[in-house]
Amino acid sequence: MNDSKSIAIHAKNTAFNSIDADSSTLINISKNIWNNPESGFREYRSSKLVSDYLNNLGLQPQVEIALTGVVAKVKSSKPGPHIAIMGELDSLIVPEHRKADPATGAAHVCGHNIQVGNLLAAAVGLSTPEVIDNLCGSISFMAVPAEEYIEIEYREQLRQSGKLEFLAGKQEFIRLGLLDDVDIALLTHASPTNSQTLMPGTSHNGMIAKKVRFRGRSAHAGGAPHLGVNALNAANLAMQGIALLRETFKDEDHVRVHPIITRGGAAVSSVPANVTMEMFIRAATITAMKDAENKVDRALKGAAMTIGAEVEISTSPGYMPSLFNPELSKIYDRSVTEIIGNDATGRMPHRTSSTDMGDVSMLIPAMQSYAGGASGRTHSDEFEITDWNLNVIDAGKALASTAIDLLADDGLEAKKIIENFKHSLSIPEYLETLRGFRRTELWNGN
Ligand SMILES: [Zn+2]
Repeated sequence: MNDSKSIAIHAKNTAFNSIDADSSTLINISKNIWNNPESGFREYRSSKLVSDYLNNLGLQPQVEIALTGVVAKVKSSKPGPHIAIMGELDSLIVPEHRKADPATGAAHVCGHNIQVGNLLAAAVGLSTPEVIDNLCGSISFMAVPAEEYIEIEYREQLRQSGKLEFLAGKQEFIRLGLLDDVDIALLTHASPTNSQTLMPGTSHNGMIAKKVRFRGRSAHAGGAPHLGVNALNAANLAMQGIALLRETFKDEDHVRVHPIITRGGAAVSSVPANVTMEMFIRAATITAMKDAENKVDRALKGAAMTIGAEVEISTSPGYMPSLFNPELSKIYDRSVTEIIGNDATGRMPHRTSSTDMGDVSMLIPAMQSYAGGASGRTHSDEFEITDWNLNVIDAGKALASTAIDLLADDGLEAKKIIENFKHSLSIPEYLETLRGFRRTELWNGN
């Protein structure tokens, strides 16, 4: 065995011992967050648990980044690549879940609470002096707010008061410069497959969000509908138009358009004059996202024209498509095999959901792994964490071990990945693209 290999093995064993020694605290923090869910940009309590733990490690974290984010960094004495290990702080809102907050309906039905646990596990392992001193470069531990794209109105208010520009946590982290000098990013998400697996993901759809308002003219719905302009009929027709365009979406683009009507009318006796919709337009590439978006806009305007209504279309940037780094995933597989065994690896196929980890994956090599220790449908009342040890301890060890492999031996593995990475966008180009999606258009169909 050569020298650098034995140094890496020693660093891993030392990191694993530190994680094991603190395992009950790490699992308790994850359970504490599970029991006290907070949705995006409101995670003050969870954020405090993170900063308290990092403070106890002597890491002096930066707090209140993008309102609730926390970042701590450990540095080796040798220069080298900078790795970010991330965990998401936010819950969803599903009031039917058994652990939902009675006041807010918040519930951790995507299991982000375990991400905080495995992030802190990686932090306790990697910040052990015997570990970091044997590596090069630096590692940042980032607890990031608001991955779920929900409560748009609340976030728009934060935006208008200047507290945010973008509506998702990692987008804000990028805007605020937290990723400017980061070379590689890692994250582990829960997955309801009820299996002893830690599987890197492949890719995700990106997403554009739209708020739509059809304005018509009210009139007596029974006595004089001919005097009105029915905004609900315009919305219905728009949904038909979108449905009829589905045959033009290519299979490989994985397009998903899912509209809802958020206000359908005020009183049944009056022709609806004010009807609002929200929709996500998802696809696997930016080109396909824009193509589908153009078709959706045509359907909205066409419907307004047919009915003689007016339509206001407000478009916001959602998330970029995710494309996770295959070389990085292979390095992670090695750690998973060492920690759990051969059967624990694999690949999560393309997912048609979206995440702001996609935004990160456009800029730097990124990996999002899925820990199989959960059950039930995600984002539903059924979702449960079934294996805390796998999600927090093993997943934390796999992240720490991957960081060690990347930064041992003068960062040879990390440097190879960074060199071969072809980024889709630079950070300024990314910010410009994101800002370019935001606009409001008024179309008068009468
Ligand atoms: Zn999630």
